[in-house]
Amino acid sequence: MRYLSTRDEGRGAASSLSEAILRGVAADGGLFMPESIPQLAPSGSTSQSLHVLAAQGLAGYFEGDALAPDLHDITRDALNFGIPVSSLDEGPHMLELFHGPTAAFKDVGARFLAACMARLADGKKKRTVLVATSGDTGGAVASAFYNRPGFDVIILYPEGRVSPLQAHQLGCWGANVRAFSVAGSFDDCQRTVKEAFANRDLCETLGLTSANSINIGRLLPQIVYYLHAAATIGGSGAPGFIIPSGNLGNVTACVLAKRMGANIGPVVMAFNANRTVPDFFETGEWRPRPSVSTLASAMDVGDPSNMERLREIFSDDTQMRQALRAISVNDSEIGATVTRAYARWGKTWCPHTAAGLYAYEALREEEKRERPWVVAATAHAAKFSEVVEPLVGAGLEMPVALARLLDRPAGGVPIGADLQSLMSELNV
Ligand SMILES: *Cc1c(COP(=O)(O)O)cnc(C)c1O
Repeated sequence: MRYLSTRDEGRGAASSLSEAILRGVAADGGLFMPESIPQLAPSGSTSQSLHVLAAQGLAGYFEGDALAPDLHDITRDALNFGIPVSSLDEGPHMLELFHGPTAAFKDVGARFLAACMARLADGKKKRTVLVATSGDTGGAVASAFYNRPGFDVIILYPEGRVSPLQAHQLGCWGANVRAFSVAGSFDDCQRTVKEAFANRDLCETLGLTSANSINIGRLLPQIVYYLHAAATIGGSGAPGFIIPSGNLGNVTACVLAKRMGANIGPVVMAFNANRTVPDFFETGEWRPRPSVSTLASAMDVGDPSNMERLREIFSDDTQMRQALRAISVNDSEIGATVTRAYARWGKTWCPHTAAGLYAYEALREEEKRERPWVVAATAHAAKFSEVVEPLVGAGLEMPVALARLLDRPAGGVPIGADLQSLMSELNV
């Protein structure tokens, strides 16, 4: 399988999967996509473990690559936690993506990417994974690369703009992971990272590598849980999926799973007040804009990168707007849904997942009866306890993995919002 850039018009050379993973972004600034979408082999058994299903489901994407012989090991290494599908009484199924070490679905992609990169590293050269984060990505990447020989991790996060628990989760590692709290916004962090990658000397000195969410090595493993859910859920009618969305990586993985032939019905994206995609679906006009802050902060994205991939998958915008749906859920609706869901089912959901639950409730009654529905539960509620606890009037229990991280001392090194500040801290 070869990988092409979304911006490539047949001119540039195709890359292998390994090259695409190591480069992160294509030379022309586009995102890597497989040149074709592999089709699922018809399989009777649905009872196999997640990592075996993963190795089967992803085999086509690894065909002919140097990593192909390692695929089973990679999936076993990366998917070492459960992804259960629970169900709410008279409500949707919940695809619980938050049982990894940092309690958000970002663990799936980050652990898979780390497992791939560790096998691609030649051992001679040190690699430095540089990542800007608005919260969840940085923790997942730090956890995935922590103590991996041959890798250093540098995380940039905006001072005061991540949840207290997220800040702790970024700054608690030590060893090969360093966290810097940047005096600026997430956009400043992202700009500094881009400047670092544009600096050839710095790239060479540090062996800079990207673990951004646009890396194809983070996207591919996300396909697996949609295959898993589609194969597990019974009932008549192909299950519909509702996906809390920001940068559109998770929904892209779902669309790929559907195109591979998985039993997947309608796909609905639930956004917060960042309306770039819902407005596009309503008007047909693509107008990226600065993000606004919401309760579902991990979805505060005004210019979603993976739109380029969705445009590659669908033949035109009209086809995309027919195949997918987009709904925007504002903060008061998110808050009310957290409260209502707790009263009705006795369970707490994070603000992102609540946006998805709201989208489920907004379906027409006949749509709900027609088929099973699945809401992707993207993070554990306790990760956003400062938002969720007041809404449900109860204290939240911390998952064991998170509690363990909270026991460690933490702190990011403060730096200015520019590359020079970072470089002087790093002594380069
Ligand atoms: C990253 C994230 C999202 C958004 O996912 P995308 O793939 O960027 O659309 C939703 N919820 C949580 C908890 C996240 O961390």
